[in-house]
Amino acid sequence: MAANQYNPYENMLNVLDQAAGKLGLTMNDYASLRVPERELKVSLPIRMDNGEIKVFEGYRVQHNSTRGPFKGGLRYHPSTNLDEVKALAAWMTFKCAIVNLPYGGAKGGITCDPKELSHAELVRLTRRYTTRVMPIIGPEQDIMAPDVNTNGEVMGWIMDTYSMYNGHAIPGVVTGKPVEIGGSIGRVEATGTGVVTITYRALESLGRDPQTQTYVVQGMGNVGGTAAKLLYQSGKKVIGVADWSCGLYNENGLNIDDIRDYLAKDRKNCLRDYEQEGAKHITMDELLTLKCGVLIPAALENQITADNAERIQADLIVEAANGPTTVEADEILNRRGIPVVPDVLANAGGVVVSYFEWVQNIQSLYWDLDEVNKRLNQIMLKAYDEVAEMAKKGGTYRMGAYMVAINRLVTASKLRGGIVSMA
Ligand code: NAD
Repeated sequence: MAANQYNPYENMLNVLDQAAGKLGLTMNDYASLRVPERELKVSLPIRMDNGEIKVFEGYRVQHNSTRGPFKGGLRYHPSTNLDEVKALAAWMTFKCAIVNLPYGGAKGGITCDPKELSHAELVRLTRRYTTRVMPIIGPEQDIMAPDVNTNGEVMGWIMDTYSMYNGHAIPGVVTGKPVEIGGSIGRVEATGTGVVTITYRALESLGRDPQTQTYVVQGMGNVGGTAAKLLYQSGKKVIGVADWSCGLYNENGLNIDDIRDYLAKDRKNCLRDYEQEGAKHITMDELLTLKCGVLIPAALENQITADNAERIQADLIVEAANGPTTVEADEILNRRGIPVVPDVLANAGGVVVSYFEWVQNIQSLYWDLDEVNKRLNQIMLKAYDEVAEMAKKGGTYRMGAYMVAINRLVTASKLRGGIVSMA
């Protein structure tokens, strides 16, 4: 497939087949993992502020529920399509299995540009979407969470709509909610926190000192912004960052707090319009190919491709975004000896604390930040060790991670009598 025809679902299947092959599985063992259990496409008519009715398109894909209820985020983006949501749903299945949560995987999306919508239009779009997917979501069926361009506020609207239709408050239908309505302390920072934990562990296992590394982070949203902040506030040198508009570079290190303050002031603010002493604007290609100790892609999929993988100068890549590296790029990086810690491990901190939130909602008993972070740390480091061990057989961290996941999923399916009893 040509690089410009990138299909994230094909990318996922390619990795799945390779990992299943390394485990010596036959197609009968894992065929059910190659297709989602359910795909729902919904039309979303809403009244715009100018009185016009506009119809948006939305999706919810439920990939696999062998190990528990479906779990996965909701994304608002102009280029979101069914193949993207299918891939994201499958990655959730593998991610939940790697960190050993009792969940399956799902994902949702609405094709829209939230920057073009007013706050009131976003509320109406979210409420319409919730009612359209209502038959297949719920705290025991499918639990949504924030993803690109959605946040705690959006989760609050979903919880409210779902609860209204059921006649009572049901906080467990979403995670990543504001703390005041049943969210978990620590959820907003959880994905970025997990990324940093895994980055340090990977560096240490490679014999490198995290303190002396330089870091480049693509994406300054929930995940990238938090990771950059934690690195910066612990004295690390973050030399490059980017958002959708451009990159920003200073070889002596950027002031991340100042950048985050500026971006937080207005959701229309972007790095293109931001200046910092000693920092210069660079293109996305320049950012991704900067010489650095660790490159952390934390924006979207399909960023490290056959077009730039030969020119990447990072010593380690930690995938904070989902699917940032194509299969072709992965092969090139592997050949060049640049280790890649895969998304399904590196960014699992978000779903881990989402799980804690769901558990707290069920128990109606809430934990403090120390409890949340202690448990998050334990789960992430255990998963890292299991993946690193399996990577000795699989050859790369990515293969190790998928092999751990597939093993757990195939075992669960067999224990449920799965495919065998359906014959
Ligand atoms: P977000 O909307 O908060 O931030 C996205 C960031 O990416 C923004 O800074 C945006 O400007 C930037 N961006 C958008 N398009 C870009 C482009 N073409 N090039 C470069 N930068 C671009 O989203 P997020 O929640 O931080 O998610 C980022 C990634 O992490 C996604 O791949 C998401 O699936 C993944 N992820 C998120 C979570 C979570 O808890 N939010 C958990 C696991 C994985």
